[in-house]
Amino acid sequence: MTLHDTTELAVETLRPGDDGYDDAARVFAGAGAPALIARPRTPDEVAAALGHAVRRGLAVSVRSGGHGPLGHATNTGGLVLDLRHLDGVEVLDADRRLVRVGGGATWGRVAARLDPLGWGITSGDTSEVGVGGLTLGGGMGWMVRRHGLTVDNLVGARVVTADGRLLSASEHEHPELFWALRGGGGNFGVVVDFDLVAQEVATVHHGTVTYQVADDTETTDLLRRWRDAMRSAPDELSSTIALPPRMPGAPPAIVLLCYAGQPGAPVEAADAAIEPLLELGAVAEAAIREVRYAEVLEPAQQPPGLRLSARNALVPELGDEVLAEIVRAHAAPTPNAVAIRSLGGAFGRVPADATAFAHRDAEAMVVGMVMLPGTASDADVEEAHTPWRAVAAHGTGTYINFQGSAAAADLASAYPPATYARLAEVKRRYDPDNVFALNHNVPPAPAR
Ligand SMILES: Cc1cc2nc3c(=O)[nH]c(=O)nc-3n(C[C@H](O)[C@H](O)[C@H](O)COP(=O)(O)OP(=O)(O)OC[C@H]3O[C@@H](n4cnc5c(N)ncnc54)[C@H](O)[C@@H]3O)c2cc1C
Repeated sequence: MTLHDTTELAVETLRPGDDGYDDAARVFAGAGAPALIARPRTPDEVAAALGHAVRRGLAVSVRSGGHGPLGHATNTGGLVLDLRHLDGVEVLDADRRLVRVGGGATWGRVAARLDPLGWGITSGDTSEVGVGGLTLGGGMGWMVRRHGLTVDNLVGARVVTADGRLLSASEHEHPELFWALRGGGGNFGVVVDFDLVAQEVATVHHGTVTYQVADDTETTDLLRRWRDAMRSAPDELSSTIALPPRMPGAPPAIVLLCYAGQPGAPVEAADAAIEPLLELGAVAEAAIREVRYAEVLEPAQQPPGLRLSARNALVPELGDEVLAEIVRAHAAPTPNAVAIRSLGGAFGRVPADATAFAHRDAEAMVVGMVMLPGTASDADVEEAHTPWRAVAAHGTGTYINFQGSAAAADLASAYPPATYARLAEVKRRYDPDNVFALNHNVPPAPAR
């Protein structure tokens, strides 16, 4: 690692050939070859590195946990702003459980830091995923039905904009920017930290139930029973049903669940809520434990040498027809996995226009993931997703954080017209030259 302390850029940087450069240039979705990786420690350093890139016309990637579906946290020939040093987790106000979290922290770190306080923040399911990317897209995790999306618990953010200013965004300051940061992705600036209200979370009941299914009809029946059980589940219970890739020895269907009750509530409430998910069919194995919330977040699984690509659909009603389409898509010859995440509860009680994540009427998010050889081309990936289109036709929206493409149709699906127009206007105001273009990009609205 080299400290390139020039008069222009006094920031820790890595360049091609430096020790650690190759690892630092790689993200979950693949390798990159940026001209410069800057690792700022302060908002001023973020602004200095940004200014450096703007003056030289370098493309700008912003990296938090590096798990973005587009791999845009790295690039070729541009600047990577790697926020790993901005990873603080600081209690600002214990009475309000107000926590300031650095834009480069990971959710595993956040959960570990809040655990001794008996707190947690509704986020994702994976410890290495970054606070930056997950929050800016929305943030959907094990407590989504109980506490909503991550952005539903965001009360402020400090942002370095393309012109190098440090702005505070909240309901009271730059409210339109604050609205856009809650679902609009990395379009508007570099978020150096997020102010989030944590929830009281001590232990949760978490685990999996593996089901035997003999054929596609039984699989469809299982999905139907899971859907019905979740329709009458309390908000405390969030669940996903997953159909793993069809491979020898792989389990046919797995229900994953997390019950996050009020601290001190009787265990019987958890048992009663979980019981219906244990009675959906022929159980091969059930492993449910009462654990600290921080133990629930797991490391990311990355099968070596494969190219993974995800698509998703936010489905307002999980009717029998869409469940049958899911099973049909899963039977396609390309190895693929499908996961259906239950929504509703607190997620669904937020008005559609309150945040830039507008699809609050979704009953579930369906994610389809194809697994191709590492050498697969973009065309191969599109081809492999063909069976998925029949599932997507039942969706009324998508969630950018699980969308591995950023074509115009993806943007239109993520943001309904009114949301999109409002985001484009915020973009015009805060990033008129589209410096932050490596993301699910919303170009600035034309100048008035
Ligand atoms: C294994 C795995 C598990 C996942 N599980 C979940 C889950 O349970 N729930 C869920 O909601 N999502 C989940 N996701 C999706 C995840 O939310 C997105 O991939 C998200 O973009 C990852 O954030 P990151 O910070 O790690 O990624 P990065 O690649 O670092 O960032 C993604 C993009 O976000 C922007 N960005 C990141 N940080 C900042 C910042 N501080 N300021 C400005 N822009 C920024 C940039 O545009 C960047 O390209 C998962 C992804 C993976 C790979």
